[in-house]
Amino acid sequence: MDYDVLILGGGIIGCAVAYELSKYSLNIALIEKDYDIADDVALVNSSIVYDGIECENTLMSKLEMMGNKMFDDISSQINVPFKRCGSLFIAQNVKQEEVLYKIYNRAIDRGINNIEILNSEDIYELEPNLNIKLTKALYSKNTGIVCPYDLAIAYGEIAFDNGVKFKLEEEVIDIQQISKGFRVVTNKNKFTCKIVINTTPGQNYTIDSKEKVYTEKSNISYFLLENDFNVEFNNILNTFNEDNEFIYTVPTVQGNMIAAVNSSNDIGYSDTLKKISKVIGNIDENKINAFYKWPSYKDTIIIDESLIDKGYIKVVGKHYGQITMTPSIARIVCETIVSNTSCLPKKEFINKRREFYRFRDLTNEQRNKIIKMDNRYGRIICRCQKVTEGEIVDAIRRPLGARTVEGVKRRTGVTFGGCKGSDCFASIVSILARETNKKFTDIVKDSKNSKIIGSRIKEFN
Ligand SMILES: Cc1cc2nc3c(=O)[nH]c(=O)nc-3n(C[C@H](O)[C@H](O)[C@H](O)COP(=O)(O)OP(=O)(O)OC[C@H]3O[C@@H](n4cnc5c(N)ncnc54)[C@H](O)[C@@H]3O)c2cc1C
Repeated sequence: MDYDVLILGGGIIGCAVAYELSKYSLNIALIEKDYDIADDVALVNSSIVYDGIECENTLMSKLEMMGNKMFDDISSQINVPFKRCGSLFIAQNVKQEEVLYKIYNRAIDRGINNIEILNSEDIYELEPNLNIKLTKALYSKNTGIVCPYDLAIAYGEIAFDNGVKFKLEEEVIDIQQISKGFRVVTNKNKFTCKIVINTTPGQNYTIDSKEKVYTEKSNISYFLLENDFNVEFNNILNTFNEDNEFIYTVPTVQGNMIAAVNSSNDIGYSDTLKKISKVIGNIDENKINAFYKWPSYKDTIIIDESLIDKGYIKVVGKHYGQITMTPSIARIVCETIVSNTSCLPKKEFINKRREFYRFRDLTNEQRNKIIKMDNRYGRIICRCQKVTEGEIVDAIRRPLGARTVEGVKRRTGVTFGGCKGSDCFASIVSILARETNKKFTDIVKDSKNSKIIGSRIKEFN
């Protein structure tokens, strides 16, 4: 057999499973069709670590609760910023209060602690900048924020450092059962293995019984607001409007704010602006960094172990709280594998992400220290986000380093500022070309067909 375990899909679930399994004496590979891992993690994800109170489905609520409880340990072990900022579900009339009490009672029945119903004075004390009329709020201290992409990359990097082989740009075409295992056919290779963990959503192979259709869907329209946006909230705020839409704001770990409308309708820019302004006050449009629209799913996530006797596990479904559930899903999958094989914990497992520096978060003393070590940390490439050449080079040279502009962007935060990269884009492309030993014209945005520079205008010898 080529491998003990093959993980299909390098999204956040695939990377987290790779991380958990890399703690054991197993020969593991992960296959991802894109240039980079975690490429499909929604770019401006809402970044919320839910606590299960909002979830109608009790099973999904349990997976969220379990994941939520694991976040303090996981984030400090693998060095990913995570903050329990808390959340408020706000009622503005008696009818909405009834909804809050329903959610509260359901949460108590589920055994969720650290929640309470607050009166208006207490709410304004928690959120002095809140300028709407309200009557009550359901307050939870459990809810948190994380950068999902950073989490996925950290999982991947540690798994890589502990021996998991990552096969990028390789698309799985089929999974076939053979005696004592599987043959996984890709567009480049055929691999044999004892166990397959399939985390590719929507893919259907010979081994799968029926195609999964994603139906439980709504639409999220959201603004990413600049760091210096004039209103700040401490908690995640959730309100309902007269159209039965859900409007929420999230303070991100990077210091900006997300303001979003979740609706059954497809809402455009100006309607989003109107609806959000009703909650947070008039928005200066110059402070809108980006506007995104994305479907939000609430399927039941199934960890399908029905073929575990043969060695096949499939994680099926799409859910708006899947980042929250990731640590719990990965732990459950790992425990199943461990109890079905004779693998042992690896003594040499290193539960640590390699060091990195974020120039913008350092003191001047710390900055001078790293510039002395490597003067590329003294050269700012992205002025809006204060990202240095040193950080970009590190993002490319790290384990599973960036090979595309999108990869550099997500790892370092370049181009997320007000100028959207107009000042630094060319420098990023040229650093990527230099570090990966490619031609300037061969650098892509994120995928094979996304070349940034078509050709040179003039050729000089
Ligand atoms: C707008 C939005 C906001 C969200 N906000 C939150 C939030 O606030 N909190 C929260 O907890 N969750 C949130 N989520 C959920 C979460 O971001 C996603 O559900 C999660 O990223 C899905 O991860 P995944 O690994 O399951 O799937 P994916 O990220 O889709 O990973 C699957 C991987 O498999 C690869 N792949 C597919 N087919 C093949 C193939 N044939 N061969 C090889 N590779 C293949 C893909 O390229 C991909 O990398 C949000 C989602 C959206 C869309």
